[in-house]
Amino acid sequence: MQILITVKETITQYITRFQALEIVRPEKCPVCGAVHSIHRHGSYWRNILNEQWEKRIPVARFYCKTCKLTISMLPSFALPYFQYSLEFIVTALQQIFLAKATTSRICSALLRFYRRRFHGNLLFLEMFFRDQGWPEVTPQDVKEKATKMVCMLTVPTAETLSQRFHQHYKHTFMAHSLYHRFYLSVNQCVPT
Ligand SMILES: [Zn+2]
Repeated sequence: MQILITVKETITQYITRFQALEIVRPEKCPVCGAVHSIHRHGSYWRNILNEQWEKRIPVARFYCKTCKLTISMLPSFALPYFQYSLEFIVTALQQIFLAKATTSRICSALLRFYRRRFHGNLLFLEMFFRDQGWPEVTPQDVKEKATKMVCMLTVPTAETLSQRFHQHYKHTFMAHSLYHRFYLSVNQCVPT
């Protein structure tokens, strides 16, 4: 399991100061609910990249002694299962849906992939924003809806939004086929 954590540091600072960072241990296990059962379990390295650089970041890990669950504490500038940084992905989405002027040269296959993922999760983004107290009516037109959702991604910041969405659904806003994940795992219908 991965949990997104807030870090105030830049990516470079996060890497250099990692050993001194206070990464708070979860109070109880998010799966079995056991308290005082979570222990630090070292860290591992993963890649993170954007157009200009590729870095390796350490990720703190905890372990539940009761149910044997491993919990990774991923900094919120990263996205679970994505090597590209959150900033890179949001910039790509802005480029796709807002036709934002950019000097970036993100390859078209990657842009198509992001477009497909984002489109596939529009319903969940809409439900999420409603749950967060944004009751305003969203456009019915899919293209307009996607455009509005991309604008809302950075309110207040993309990191905060990504983290809250992940806490809410236990998956990222770019996760593969959220509809089917929920339909199969929760076995209940989602509103259409
Ligand atoms: Zn547990």
